[in-house]
Amino acid sequence: MRQKIVAGNWKMNKTLEEANILATEIKGMVADEVKGSAQIIFCVPFPYLLTLKNLLGNGARITLGAQNCSEHESGAYTGEVSASMLKSLGIPFVILGHSERRQYFGEDGKLLAKKVDIALKHGLTPIFCCGEPLEVRESNGHEALIKKQVEESLFHLDQATIQKIVIAYEPVWAIGTGKTATSQQAQDMHVVIRKHLSGKYGQAVANEISILYGGSVNAANAKELFSCPDVDGGLVGGASLKSREFTEIIKSA
Ligand code: PEP
Repeated sequence: MRQKIVAGNWKMNKTLEEANILATEIKGMVADEVKGSAQIIFCVPFPYLLTLKNLLGNGARITLGAQNCSEHESGAYTGEVSASMLKSLGIPFVILGHSERRQYFGEDGKLLAKKVDIALKHGLTPIFCCGEPLEVRESNGHEALIKKQVEESLFHLDQATIQKIVIAYEPVWAIGTGKTATSQQAQDMHVVIRKHLSGKYGQAVANEISILYGGSVNAANAKELFSCPDVDGGLVGGASLKSREFTEIIKSA
């Protein structure tokens, strides 16, 4: 179901104590100040999922996501975390295909298709990331690359299942750089993605899929980005680590 979503990607940051403080602060600010109904998600390091789940409470306004999961069901895969483990903790979301995983851990479209499948099999909602590096944008290959990334990892899904996916468009040149896509660039690329979904699944299905923008979203630019008709919220890295800043971003959705 298409809805406004603001997801924070904490990446590999914070000690347990710091994580508790950050989550407690944002929880308090959200309770006091946030009127809108956007879905709020903290995508936190694996070790903090259960503690933060307890801290946020059942039926909480804020829910949790992991930042990755294994493509394997279970077994001898030292250091990996499975989708069924996440499910057993009651974690509803998982980021898949973040550009840092593509870049530093060699994750490609085929592998991500397997991760998408296993996450869905266990009832998790993938937040599937796509995005082009700077050189691809500069050579005008961004639309083709994004379509290919979406196709490779998602187009094997049937009509009912694709609607369970959240997509995050995150131009790599905008991640952690302070260089945000303009709202027009974001809107244009979200239309490219939605049209591509529509070509395969039909307009009604494409209209049901939330497409988030990610890349240096902050309190100052969130409102303009989130007001674009095809931008259904954001995946936020650095600014999700600051309670006041993240709360202001949530209020912009
Ligand atoms: C991200 O890591 O998904 C991200 C968008 O990071 P930042 O907001 O820091 O650019």
